[in-house]
Amino acid sequence: MKRKNNELKSKVIKFNLETGISPEIESKKRMLSDMEGMYFDNNKLKEIVKRRDLIVYEFYDLGIKADPSELAYGTTIVYPGKVGAEYFMTKGHFHEKIETAEIYYCLRGYGYLLMENPEGDVEVREMKPGISVYVPPRFAHRSINISPDQPLILFFSFRADAGHDYKTIEKKGFRKLMIEQNDKPTLIDNPKWKS
Ligand code: MN
Repeated sequence: MKRKNNELKSKVIKFNLETGISPEIESKKRMLSDMEGMYFDNNKLKEIVKRRDLIVYEFYDLGIKADPSELAYGTTIVYPGKVGAEYFMTKGHFHEKIETAEIYYCLRGYGYLLMENPEGDVEVREMKPGISVYVPPRFAHRSINISPDQPLILFFSFRADAGHDYKTIEKKGFRKLMIEQNDKPTLIDNPKWKS
């Protein structure tokens, strides 16, 4: 395949191990106000936002060309916090091209990767520094930070043309929720889940 010259060049990007932040690139930020309807206790969310909107997570979109031969990658940083008993987390998504997988590697912090496919299979994996998780094709995925005081920093990579389907999760939610119960992270059925 013939390629433009700049596509043949290797690329170096720095991601800080303490913060997950890349000094040279602007991240995308999700505030609590962007998470309306994602948490079980939406009134609690509104109450917090009314006092002061908080950043829940940020991530990088490096603008890699949406081509099956390319790999998108970057970090996701989920900040510590809770909405009621539910931990700060990403919205979570399916890939538009649902048959595409993804890799996550934990650089810092403690949490979980929650996954489910349209058939109803649920996978949940503990994330801590040094742990990689392979998200198989067809599985929606969400990152959850269970630490009271540390960011959860994950490095990810997926086929660059996979695309993001946020709508399905916004409408239905995940089948399971990770909440704090007796000081411990506990996976429960999502009472609001819509089939
Ligand atoms: Mn993904």
